Amino acid sequence: MDFEISAEQQALYEAARALGEHEVHPTVLERDKSGRWDWAIWKKMGAAGLLGSPFPEEYGGTALGAVDTCLLKEAFTYGGHDGGVSLAWGASSILCGVPIWKLGTEAQKKKYLPGMCRGDTIGAFCLSEAGSGSDAAAMKTRAEKKGDRYILNGTKMWITNGPIANHMIVTAVTEPGAKAFGISSFIVDANSKGFKVGQHIDKMGVRTSLTSEIFFEDCEVPEENLLGELNTGFVGTVKLIFGWERSCLLASSLGGMRANVERCTRYAQERVQFGKPIAKFQAVRHMLADMKMRYELSRNLIWRVAWHLDQDTEPPLVDAAVAKTFVSEAAQKVARDAIQIHGGNGFTTEYHVERGLRDSILGTIGGGTSEVQRSIIARSILDLGF
Ligand SMILES: Cc1cc2nc3c(=O)[nH]c(=O)nc-3n(C[C@H](O)[C@H](O)[C@H](O)COP(=O)(O)OP(=O)(O)OC[C@H]3O[C@@H](n4cnc5c(N)ncnc54)[C@H](O)[C@@H]3O)c2cc1C
Repeated sequence: MDFEISAEQQALYEAARALGEHEVHPTVLERDKSGRWDWAIWKKMGAAGLLGSPFPEEYGGTALGAVDTCLLKEAFTYGGHDGGVSLAWGASSILCGVPIWKLGTEAQKKKYLPGMCRGDTIGAFCLSEAGSGSDAAAMKTRAEKKGDRYILNGTKMWITNGPIANHMIVTAVTEPGAKAFGISSFIVDANSKGFKVGQHIDKMGVRTSLTSEIFFEDCEVPEENLLGELNTGFVGTVKLIFGWERSCLLASSLGGMRANVERCTRYAQERVQFGKPIAKFQAVRHMLADMKMRYELSRNLIWRVAWHLDQDTEPPLVDAAVAKTFVSEAAQKVARDAIQIHGGNGFTTEYHVERGLRDSILGTIGGGTSEVQRSIIARSILDLGF
């Protein structure tokens, strides 16, 4: 793998960083406080080509690879320092868009991808339920074939973009008793009969994205909205997402880390105690050094997963799990240290670092907890060797 960033990639990075800095960051304190979603930002992300970065041009995308998408995601989050908007982007483009692109029919790709790329529409991904989070295959939502449609019944929980999504990928049991091999995925339009959105869920972090329950009450889904083969929703769709989620979606953590390192570097040089800048104290310098190391290691782990995607090879599950666990935990430690370096100021909302910590907490929970990832890593070592 080539680690050199080309002039073209650097230009992409700079443009995405500037977009975040000018369009996202100025309002982030207010949007975080009120838990407000901003469609104007979304439209600007679409116009800048961010939302369609991995998709082919014929579907409205900019055909950038996974590594370039990681760069864009990092840069935008670095400039905007807003984990919520970056999460909304990941839930729409990566969790909803990538399966449609990779597994969808031509008609599905043409129908759903261009609007998502432009920022006219937004997608979501419905896997989790109140009773099945880590054990996602234990879902209760059912889909039964009746004539030329499927009838969905059940409730999905914690759905990012749920209150505003125009369409979503929904996993449901199509062959009871077959566990992971009896689950299918469907593209469900939010205006379908029997589709209902729950209340927005108030959260500690990523508050600038919206989250809700989604109810399916005899929800009618045309048979042509089955995504991929019947009964491959878990072994196909969910498995496909792992690599993309644990690179392109996770890359926003890099942006958060980088924003924190820079804020802390500036602050440590300006803040004077005992007659000198706190940057002169070894304890503070070591925190800065550790932050930088965590950022650099995280970038390498994420790029390794993304590199596989760009070669069209499936990233090893263990590599994706290592990246997910290390990066999300590194981001939390960096965010925690950023508050420590800012002292009392770090505890206030004004300096942005407390929001950084709140936003970082989801990383070790959403899309597979650190505990479950460690089980995957340990199983790989024990069963397959190092
Ligand atoms: C803000 C937010 C946004 C989200 N967005 C989405 C979304 O868009 N779409 C979607 O489908 N889901 C979404 N989720 C759901 C998320 O993926 C789940 O919360 C996550 O998978 C964990 O499931 P759980 O919350 O049910 O926790 P549980 O599975 O109940 O876990 C609770 C604790 O038990 C531990 N545990 C569970 N099983 C094991 C085990 N086998 N070994 C060791 N420890 C274990 C966990 O690690 C954790 O510490 C979102 C969640 C949040 C909070």
